[in-house]
Amino acid sequence: MNVAQNAAHIHSKIKAACERANRNIDEVKLVAVTKYVSKETAQKALDAGVVHLGENRNEGFLDKYETLGEEAVWHFIGSLQTRKVKDVIDKIDYLHSLDRLSLAKEIEKRAEHPVKCFIQVNVSNEETKHGLKKEEVIPFVQKLSDFQKIEVIGLMTMAPHIEDQEKLRHYFYELRLLKEKITALNLPSAPCTELSMGMSNDYEIAVEEGATFVRIGTSLVGKEF
Ligand SMILES: *Cc1c(COP(=O)(O)O)cnc(C)c1O
Repeated sequence: MNVAQNAAHIHSKIKAACERANRNIDEVKLVAVTKYVSKETAQKALDAGVVHLGENRNEGFLDKYETLGEEAVWHFIGSLQTRKVKDVIDKIDYLHSLDRLSLAKEIEKRAEHPVKCFIQVNVSNEETKHGLKKEEVIPFVQKLSDFQKIEVIGLMTMAPHIEDQEKLRHYFYELRLLKEKITALNLPSAPCTELSMGMSNDYEIAVEEGATFVRIGTSLVGKEF
């Protein structure tokens, strides 16, 4: 795996997708998902200029944070168990998987500073996927408005593994519409300006549909375990 070469390739694809969609490339941040690779390989992403790193389990995150902590901007992208909140919440910069009130309450209790959170949305309503149903998102955001430690900066989704490009595009488009509805509520606790969507298989479509954070593992850093 030549991580630097992969990063350059992905950047050029993101740039092209931005041009097709009339977007500014500065709006799109690349998160290197390092859950399947070693610290050494994660370091290569940092060396290639990718400062955003994403982990989905607290063991993997804490292990990498120990060595790479200061250098990276940390994204927690996996489902976070309530009892694990205290171990990670003051070390991460972004949480992509806020999906229930009990988790929000634990963050409110444990976090020292406001945490930038994405609400995870299950756009395809697959039973295997985490996240709120679309219709549950606005009531949930409204419930969070009293929380001091939760800043709803955007919405996150994982699209299903399907080949149908137009269906994928529709899921991303729907997430953007939902984001715009929340932005329009003008809640101080929920600026909701960001969209975390797009992975190795579908990030170009996600960028065309408005992604501001793409989360890429396999095609950037590979899969070692
Ligand atoms: C693993 C993972 C990714 C990256 O997936 P790839 O297909 O390897 O790019 C992105 N987001 C989440 C939430 C993940 O768990």
